[in-house]
Amino acid sequence: MRILLLGSGELGREVALEAARLGVEVVAADRYDDAPAMRVTPHRRVLDMTDPVALRALVEQVRPDLVVPEVEALATEELLALEAEGFRVVPTARAARLTMDREGIRRLAAEELGLATSPYRFASTEREFLEAVEQVGRPCVVKPVMSSSGKGQSTVGAEGDASAAWVYARDNARVKGQNVIVEGFVDFAYEVTLLTVRHAAGVTVCPPVGHVQVDGDYRESWQPHPMSEAALSRGIEIATQVVDALGGHGLFGVELFVTAADEVLFSEVSPRPHDTGMVTMVSQPVSEFALHVRAILGLPVRPDDVVVTRPSASAVVLGTETGVPSYDGLVDALAGETVQLRVFGKPTSHPGRRLAVALAQGDSVEQARERARAAAAAVRVTVAD
Ligand code: AMP
Repeated sequence: MRILLLGSGELGREVALEAARLGVEVVAADRYDDAPAMRVTPHRRVLDMTDPVALRALVEQVRPDLVVPEVEALATEELLALEAEGFRVVPTARAARLTMDREGIRRLAAEELGLATSPYRFASTEREFLEAVEQVGRPCVVKPVMSSSGKGQSTVGAEGDASAAWVYARDNARVKGQNVIVEGFVDFAYEVTLLTVRHAAGVTVCPPVGHVQVDGDYRESWQPHPMSEAALSRGIEIATQVVDALGGHGLFGVELFVTAADEVLFSEVSPRPHDTGMVTMVSQPVSEFALHVRAILGLPVRPDDVVVTRPSASAVVLGTETGVPSYDGLVDALAGETVQLRVFGKPTSHPGRRLAVALAQGDSVEQARERARAAAAAVRVTVAD
């Protein structure tokens, strides 16, 4: 059994390790060399995965049993063609296509499935954009349709300069000049990720993961996050509907906003392990990465695989400068009770780039968060040119 990982970041690395534990051969691909997953498997490929010709050549050469996308930026039309020719894409090529840009998944969720979301409009010119801001109303959140980790995302306030948000989104999109989504700002009480596994015997949903985002990028997550019974059962319904609509087998990260009135809104979904789900490496008997591998291989997922054994948390370590990173302070970080670290081994650091994560357990979520935060803060990153 051989899998081809399209994307070799920190999430891909954990998938590679879990696959290797079950004896699967992993080929790790990414656009740059020495990516985290490449360091844990002898098979690496460096290419522009958004180039359909290069992507097809890779798949035809590797001939994997499963193509496993781990990032959004892929030539998804080519994945559709390869799937039609008999290659298996996880969870499906259509899911990769629909979730690659915010428009595909938002229209599926809101317009086809009729799920509650923030109000939204899409715009391809500045004029359309300014109209969209007026229609959606202020405050609103502006994002490129294709971007991740908060890139190009900003909020237009009651008085703010909408044009600046337009320029920022257009300049920071994955591909310059892309469309922009304008979303009504949701004043949510909290946001959660429901890690949802679609496997041979049905759908299994993990206990809710709470998280804090800064500038659209995750900083801390924890599990379980308390939810009312009504909000949780609505969340599970939404998650099940979304993953059933996308189809295939695998773990999905379903992002939800919950308002003070306990209304549950769908935000977005990743058809693969989610960054906020890194906490499951210490909170659950079977992590989101191991669940993904089990599901895609057709292996069982049991309800007791996804219980929270102890309240747990994760906190990220970000780069502050550009250069080749080195890490100090690991002795102090790991002196913390229950603390574990994952250093991703990225070849370069940039300001704001996620380089490591601290994980911890506690008697309560608050204690776990304090331990994880303290451990992350103890890690010092220095760079050489
Ligand atoms: P996204 O990349 O769409 O997941 O957005 C990243 C984060 O930005 C979310 O997890 C929220 O914390 C925040 N966010 C995004 N959209 C909205 C919205 N419409 N209203 C309020 N906050 C938002």
